Formats: sequence, C-alpha cells, structure tokens
Amino acid sequence: MKIEKVEGVVISERNYGETSKLIVMITKEHGLISVMAKGARKMRSTLRGISSKLTYGYFHIYYKEGKISTLIDADIINSFKVIRRDLLTIGYASFVCELVGQVIKQSIMSKDLEVIYDYFISSLIKINEGFDPLVITNILELKLLPFLGVNPMLDECAVCGDVTSIVTVSADKFGFLCQKCRTNEYIVNDKTIKFLRMFYYVDISKISKLEISDKVKNEINYFIDDFYDKHTGLYLKSKQFLKKIEVIS
Ligand SMILES: [Zn+2]
Repeated sequence: MKIEKVEGVVISERNYGETSKLIVMITKEHGLISVMAKGARKMRSTLRGISSKLTYGYFHIYYKEGKISTLIDADIINSFKVIRRDLLTIGYASFVCELVGQVIKQSIMSKDLEVIYDYFISSLIKINEGFDPLVITNILELKLLPFLGVNPMLDECAVCGDVTSIVTVSADKFGFLCQKCRTNEYIVNDKTIKFLRMFYYVDISKISKLEISDKVKNEINYFIDDFYDKHTGLYLKSKQFLKKIEVIS
C-alpha cells in the first residue's frame, strides 16, 4: 500500500469501535472518500483534531479506491474557526458539505470534480470570512445546478428567449420570464433579477462585497429552494435543520 497526499475537507465523522472514527471527506483528487482514523477518540491521539468535521487540509492516507482508506496524519490548511463558533454558520457549512457530497455522487466526470471542488472550498472560505452564509450557499446552489443536469435560464426569457423585458423569475418555467410570457407569477424586484444572473456567473473566490437587501435575498432564496424542490430530486437533511434554526435565530 502506498501513502498518498490528498487535499480535502472532513464532512462527517462517526464513532467506530471503542476508540476510532470513520470519517467522510470530499477530496480534490478522489471526490468523496471514507477514511478510518484509528484511535482518533483517544485523548492524546494526534488524529483527534484533524479528523473532526470541517477540517480542511492536506491529508496523508493509505488510499484504497472504492474502499475505506486509512488516515495517517494531516497538515491543516484552515480549520474554519469562525464557522465553528456559531450554530447558524455550522448549519450552513453542513448544508454546503452535504449538497456538494450529493452532487459529486451524481456527477461522474473527473473534470467536473475539479470545478465542483473549487466551488466547495471557495464557499466555505467565504462563509468563514464572515460573508452572509445564506447568500454564499445560494450562489453555490445556483452554480451547481448544471452538474445536476438542470440549467435554469437566467440570460433570457425561459419561454420565448426575449432579453429586453424580463420582469420575474419562476421555478415552474425554468428561469426568467418576460412581460409577455408572465401569466400570474409574482413580480420580483429588479435587483433579484440582476443578482440571480450575476450569482450564476460569479467566481465565488473573488467575491469581495455583498450588499443585498433582505427582500431581494428572500426572493432569490425562494426561487432557488423552489427550483431545487421541483427539478433536482435532492432531499438534504441539513437543509431541514437549517430551516429550523433560521426560524429561531
Ligand atoms: Zn417571454
């Protein structure tokens, strides 16, 4: 067996046996992998910290394709301390991890993995830097849609292709709607249209400011939630949890 160095993030951990942990990671090289951290629950284990959820680093592992790999050690790149401080940001980061995990499962092309991984890391970094986690996850959700095989039309009217008189957006109609094609859909704010298009194309790692009103944020989030519900078939536990804590906070 050969030792391999992989870059990745621990997205879940569970106890295994008396003292070990079985972790799942999203890695740049192999996508989703399961890794055994032997003895990681012992107080003095060097694997204790690095095998905890949301550790981002370079991991040395005995890699076994399609099976459970074994963790040897890791150099931490970022432990996302800001995210870990707050239940709400933990909730969003958990959602990001679960969502990306699901998309990787469905997306088989290795060139896709590279792009998806990049979106994943950039999103966690931005949440950790204190950017609005709702907006960051919404951007990520939009950008992942093509990998789920469902492209919303956010350049032109989804029904007729008109670009001049877009007035709203609808998950049922797959994207923007112009004045002519709108039937009874609620008309969203102009900025909702502008930001949706921008979010779809933005490079997450280059985001430097986000000034968006609550009304516009809610309209964007409503469309994206609705679009996921109607067209992706994904059901994510962390999303349900997030909805609960959003109500409380
Ligand atoms: Zn139209």
